[in-house]
Amino acid sequence: MKRIFSGIKPTGHLTLGNYLGALRRWVETDQHQADAVFCVVDLHALTVEHDPGRVRRLSRQAATLMLAAGLDPERCTVFVQSHVDEHARLSYLLECTATDGELRRMIQYKEKGARARAAGESVRLSLLTYPVLMAADILAYGTDEVPVGEDQTQHVELTRDLAVRFNQRYGHTFTVPRATHPEVAARVMDLQDPTSKMGKSHEPGSGIVYLLDEPDVTRRKIMRAVTDSGHEVRYDRAERPGLANLLDILAACTGGDPEELAGAYPSYGALKKDTADAVVELLRPVRERHAELVTDPGAVDAVLRRGAERARGLARPRVDAAYAAVGL
Ligand code: ADP
Repeated sequence: MKRIFSGIKPTGHLTLGNYLGALRRWVETDQHQADAVFCVVDLHALTVEHDPGRVRRLSRQAATLMLAAGLDPERCTVFVQSHVDEHARLSYLLECTATDGELRRMIQYKEKGARARAAGESVRLSLLTYPVLMAADILAYGTDEVPVGEDQTQHVELTRDLAVRFNQRYGHTFTVPRATHPEVAARVMDLQDPTSKMGKSHEPGSGIVYLLDEPDVTRRKIMRAVTDSGHEVRYDRAERPGLANLLDILAACTGGDPEELAGAYPSYGALKKDTADAVVELLRPVRERHAELVTDPGAVDAVLRRGAERARGLARPRVDAAYAAVGL
């Protein structure tokens, strides 16, 4: 059975981008057709300024939302990264495999690093090395497929390069994984700035739909989405990114095709209204289940404890083999 691995960073509240780009597929497809491992990657949250209590709260919230969205702990493994030491252990060996040049070329490092420097903040070394830890997350499990949004393509490419290089130097140790993306909405854009992705680590703003937003808040955000001053509804990502984003979101919610949907709408207003309704309906069961699960934190803890035990059992032999392979 193929192995699937993916994760979510607890750096903010989960967004519609996380749901459409990743979580929904984990629930609807991946857990049914593979031995799937899903992780709240909390070590990654320390690469930027963070508050310890907030990271802890957001980790729990992310795990709870993963279960609320429908991950079934009887079918897949759900755990928190820092509960399994193998990730950090393997990361060091991969730091000895990667070069500083290839890490400095990572787009996310360049963007986030530039933002931090512009704000007068220092850049943590871990922001540079974070893709190596991500490679360790993936390679520790003998992963075949990594279902992610398009923003993660470059990091999965690096993971592949490191696996190949390690295998060439030290003998076959790691499966070389590949990224998979959803057909629609692989890159959900910010509703107020449709040229940048809807990311949970950004400043909270009205362009980001959070999974736990109240329905009327979600509706308002979508009705106020930036479009352009035209009238005709046309799917054109380059020229009309705001409109294309709404069409992608609607298509992802309803299972339609964004270009075909464009032809069905006489006005921007009608498109926004239907998109808002579709998103609210899509998220309703997730919000309801989340409200139930938060009343029983012990049950979530138990799932995470069992998940970590299983994850440890899966990762340890491969990480031990990697240590032996490099001569330790
Ligand atoms: P974030 O950028 O919100 O911090 P993470 O790094 O935690 O996201 O990513 C979790 C998953 O959600 C990844 O698979 C990522 O590709 C996906 N994802 C995040 N933002 C978006 C988006 N705007 N559109 C599509 N997928 C996204």
